[in-house]
Amino acid sequence: MTPASTEVDAVVIGAGPNGLVASIALADAGWDVLLVEANPTVGGAVRTAEVTAPGFRNDLFSAFYPLAAASSVIRDLDLEQHGLRWVQAESVVAHALPDGRAALLSRDPLETAADVEEFAAGDGQAWLDMFEHWQRIREPFLDAMFTPLPPVKAALRLARTLGSRGLLDLVRLALTPARRLADERFAGDGAALLLTGNALHADVPPDAAGSGIFGWLLIMLGQDVGFPVPEGGAGKLAEAMQSRLVSAGGQVWTDTRVTSVVVRDGKALGVRTADGRTVRARRAVVADVDSPTLFGELVGEDLLPPAFRRDLRLFQWDNSTLKLNWALSRPVAWTAAKARTAGTVHFGVDLDGFVEYAADLSLRRMPRNPFVLFGQMTTADPTRSPAGTESAWAYTHIPQSLAHDRQALRRQEERIEQVLEELAPGFTDSILARHPQYPDDLQAADSNLVDGAINGGTSYPHQQLFFRPTPGLGRPETPIERLFLASASAHPGGGVHGACGWNAAVTALHSTGPANRVRLRLATTAWDRLLGSDKS
Ligand SMILES: Cc1cc2nc3c(=O)[nH]c(=O)nc-3n(C[C@H](O)[C@H](O)[C@H](O)COP(=O)(O)OP(=O)(O)OC[C@H]3O[C@@H](n4cnc5c(N)ncnc54)[C@H](O)[C@@H]3O)c2cc1C
Repeated sequence: MTPASTEVDAVVIGAGPNGLVASIALADAGWDVLLVEANPTVGGAVRTAEVTAPGFRNDLFSAFYPLAAASSVIRDLDLEQHGLRWVQAESVVAHALPDGRAALLSRDPLETAADVEEFAAGDGQAWLDMFEHWQRIREPFLDAMFTPLPPVKAALRLARTLGSRGLLDLVRLALTPARRLADERFAGDGAALLLTGNALHADVPPDAAGSGIFGWLLIMLGQDVGFPVPEGGAGKLAEAMQSRLVSAGGQVWTDTRVTSVVVRDGKALGVRTADGRTVRARRAVVADVDSPTLFGELVGEDLLPPAFRRDLRLFQWDNSTLKLNWALSRPVAWTAAKARTAGTVHFGVDLDGFVEYAADLSLRRMPRNPFVLFGQMTTADPTRSPAGTESAWAYTHIPQSLAHDRQALRRQEERIEQVLEELAPGFTDSILARHPQYPDDLQAADSNLVDGAINGGTSYPHQQLFFRPTPGLGRPETPIERLFLASASAHPGGGVHGACGWNAAVTALHSTGPANRVRLRLATTAWDRLLGSDKS
C-alpha cells in the first residue's frame, strides 16, 4: 500500500514520451523522481494493443518515429539496452494516386531521385540537392530545434555552416508555404506530393506560411533515417523508456491521476492525486500535461498573472482526428504497386486536393475528399500480425466542431473505406475486424488528446517558438516557480522526440543551485516584466 503522503525531489505528471524522458533526465542527474500516470500503463500516445483481432497488434496513436530516430535526446538513452529494436519497411512513404502511379520515398536517395524524375525531368537532381543541403545542416538544425529557446550555440553553428545568405534562405524556407516550396523546388507532382503530404502531418494548411518546413523536415528525415518503428509495436518504445527510468532509480505510479498542483506563495510544492494522496516535491513539479489543462485545472487560473490568463484563452488546439484500425487477411493490394513496399501510405487527394482538404477544415466542414495517412504495420514489422496478413490503421483530420458528431464520423469512416476499395480493389473483403477510434475515444485513452487533437496545440507560426504555448513563454518555465511544462504543448511541439521533456528537465536542474538561483531570478524578473505588470 503506497503511503498517503510521499516526498521526492521531483514529481513528473504524465508518462507520455516527454514525461518519461524528463523523468529519466532528472533521475540520471541523481534526483529522486516519481512519475505519476493516470493510465494503467505508461506511454501516453505511444501504446499498442490487440484491439482488432487476436494476434494483430495495433498502435493506438503514434506509429512511425523519424523524429525519435533523429533526436539526440532519445538516441542517447540507449534504449536498445532496454529491449528496443528499430525496424523499417522496405520503403519509407508513398503517395498513392488513383491512376495507378505512386510517388515513392525510398531508403536510398538515388532511388527516390529516380522515382521523382519519372514525374518531371530535373526533379531527381533537385531532390538530391535538397538532401545534400539537409546533410550539411542536419546536426546544428536539429540541435536548434530540440534545445530550449533561444538555441544560441546551435544557431551560431548553423550560421557558421550556412553563412549569412544561407541562413536567410533557411529562414525563408521556414516561412514558405508547402505548396509554394514545392513549386519553387520541383517541376512535377511526385516530389511535390511527398513534400505536401508530409507537411500535413502538422495542421498548417499547404498554402499558409510555415507549412513548408514541416514537409521539408519530414521528407529529409525520411530520406535520412527512414520512418522506423519499434519491433513488436509502439508500446515497446514506452516499455524501454520505463525500464530505463527504473534502472536509473526512478519510481512510477500508474492508475493515478493528478488532480491538482499544490502551490503556495507562487511556488509549486507538489501534487494531489485523485485517490487522495499527496506528493511533496522538494525541487520541481514537471508536467507532461496539455497547457490549458495544466494551468486552467491543475493549477487554477486564480493563481496565474492576468496577462497569462488572457493568453491562455487564446490557446489554439490543432484539428481533431478520426482514426481507424483494421485486421486484414492479406497485405493491401494497392493498384499503385509501389505503395505496397512502404510503411506509410498517403492517399485521398492530389496537389489541389490538399488545399481543398485544408480549406474544408478551416471552414469547419467535414472534408469531402479526406487526406488519409495509412500505416501498413506488418509491412514495416512482420511481428505485428500473423504471416500473410496486415495490421493496418488510417487517420484523417476533421474539424473540432464535428469531433462529437457520431453520424458525420461514421460517414467519413465509410468514405475512407470506399476510397481504399477504389485504390486497392478487394480491400473491403480483406477486413477481418475493425476498431475505430473517434475523438472522444482518443481523449478518454489519453487526456492530453483534447477532442482528438494530436499535437498538443496548433503548429501555426503564431503558436510556435516564443509563442508556444502562449506568447512570451516558449520555454519550460511557467509563471509558477518550480513548475515546468514538459508536454507537446511546449516548444518544439508534437511528435515523439522527447525534446519537450528533456528541455523541462534540464531547465529544472538548472533552476536549483547557487548559479542558477541568479538565472531563476532573471527568469522571474522577465516574468514580472512581461506578465506581472499587465493587470488587464
Ligand atoms: C493518432 C496519433 C498519431 C500520431 N502519430 C505520430 C507518429 O507517427 N509519429 C510521431 O512522432 N508522433 C505522432 N503523434 C504525436 C505524438 O504521439 C505526440 O506528440 C506525443 O505522444 C506527445 O507526447 P507527450 O509526452 O507530450 O504527451 P502524451 O503522449 O499525450 O502523454 C501524456 C500522458 O500524460 C498523462 N496525463 C495527462 N494528464 C495527467 C494527469 N493529470 N495525471 C496523470 N497523468 C496524466 C496521460 O494519461 C498520458 O499518458 C501522433 C499522435 C496521435 C494521437
